[in-house]
Amino acid sequence: MPWRDIHKFRKWYNENKVRIRAYQEEWVKRNRDKVRASTKRSYYKNKAKRKKAYDKLRYQALVALGRCCFVCQVRQSLHFHHLEYFPDSVRHMKPHRINDGEERLKEAIAHPERFVLLCIEHHMKLEALKIKLKRGLSQFPVELQRKIIEALYNNRLF
Ligand SMILES: [Zn+2]
Repeated sequence: MPWRDIHKFRKWYNENKVRIRAYQEEWVKRNRDKVRASTKRSYYKNKAKRKKAYDKLRYQALVALGRCCFVCQVRQSLHFHHLEYFPDSVRHMKPHRINDGEERLKEAIAHPERFVLLCIEHHMKLEALKIKLKRGLSQFPVELQRKIIEALYNNRLF
């Protein structure tokens, strides 16, 4: 096998493509355990990498939005509340979800004015009020949401 010369190697590879492919398939069949272990290894390796990237993104989004609950300034269990949706917004139907999707975090970094950071308690209170006011609209009026948040801040509600 002419490994040292890349051109020779390519020529050799192209001429023997079918044979090489067949040998590789045969090897995979004979070494299922090795293949499985390697897949598993890279999965966990990438998982750690993905988590690191995600945490960094979430931190950037938190900083962009003040890093504390808008109402009570608590710094734990923060939710990104989507105040206003635009055609390019990321929609998902789980507003109570703690882990926010990466796309949503990117949107929060690019457009912090579309979001408000709330702790779990105040997020739930806001969502409960939205239901109470029976606005089954796809877009709850932003001004009304702002008024509710302001009222929560001034302790006039609850
Ligand atoms: Zn709060």
